[in-house]
Amino acid sequence: MITLDALTKIFPGGVRALDAIDLTIADGEFFALLGPSGCGKTTLLRTIAGLEIPTSGRVHIDGADVTALPPGRRDIAMVFQDYAIFPHMSVAENIAYPLRIKKTPRAERTRKATEVAARLSLTELLLRRPAQLSGGQQQRVALARAIACHPAAFLFDEPLSNLDARLRLEARTFLKRLQRDLAVTTVFVTHDQAEALALADRIAVMSHGRMIQIGTPADIFQRPATTFVASFIGSTPMNLLPATFRDGALHVAGAVRAGAPGLTGGDDLLYGVRPEYMTLSATERGDGIPGTVAVHENLGTGVLVTLEADGLLIQAVAPEGDEPPLGTRRWAVPARSLLYRDGRLIA
Ligand code: ATP
Repeated sequence: MITLDALTKIFPGGVRALDAIDLTIADGEFFALLGPSGCGKTTLLRTIAGLEIPTSGRVHIDGADVTALPPGRRDIAMVFQDYAIFPHMSVAENIAYPLRIKKTPRAERTRKATEVAARLSLTELLLRRPAQLSGGQQQRVALARAIACHPAAFLFDEPLSNLDARLRLEARTFLKRLQRDLAVTTVFVTHDQAEALALADRIAVMSHGRMIQIGTPADIFQRPATTFVASFIGSTPMNLLPATFRDGALHVAGAVRAGAPGLTGGDDLLYGVRPEYMTLSATERGDGIPGTVAVHENLGTGVLVTLEADGLLIQAVAPEGDEPPLGTRRWAVPARSLLYRDGRLIA
């Protein structure tokens, strides 16, 4: 279990990379840190690892305060984007390296390295040097080295980002299975939301050194807590349409929709609908937003249709072959919607 108490990191020059972060990651959990470039993901991971000293706050691993301990005494293994495997060592030597540092006897080292290599399908490659391996194989060597010393936690910093798209998907599935089998607490940094949604038990979405939302992939996808999360998550961003509440109903760009319980008046609302939940009606509807079909984009799984509606752009996903022709009039009818005020989810 990893617990962070009011963890703050201010770099020389005043950049507040972590801003009073409180977080508990459960034993065995796969936890993803997701957010745009510069939001503090790597700094958080490095602070858990002991590679950065926090300005204030504490880090606990399995109940013990490790804030003052150097990385080597924290019982964690880190895998970086560039793998950081040693070019002058064979695969076998690379895997056994942490055991050598721990002064594990040679016979035991060889046994463990062979066992871990078999688990990661590296047996045939044990005598090769990293330069003789593919990117995916190098990544597996880095993983094997991390696993060999049975750490209390894995810390991964974008470990899949150097792989091509197909290998990346394979490695993702592999990593997920491995983590399930080993049940080791894992903190995984990525800026790829599809990766975070696919892998994690829980995700923290970060911005400017803070955690904006922490939840399961379903929570984060279906009920983004803020408009920042709503526009960051999803392969196509959520429609966020200005709305007003009056006379007991919501008015959204020419459509009249039912209000939410407890909603009071105001014109400072944003009506959020994922393109996947927006349908396009060919006939006029009072609860639909009228517009003209302006753009088609093929997503492979469907077509993203952009409707121009009185200065607003509204996006809907239509089944392939069923997309309305360009220039035709349609009514965008939301199936599921969220309501934001001052950037925060209210209904
Ligand atoms: P990326 O996805 O681009 O790797 P990140 O979310 O991992 O970004 P960090 O690398 O943690 O972000 O950086 C957080 C902030 O701290 C950024 O504004 C960065 O410029 C700043 N920062 C990081 N390391 C240092 C440093 N050694 N000295 C000064 N500022 C730093």
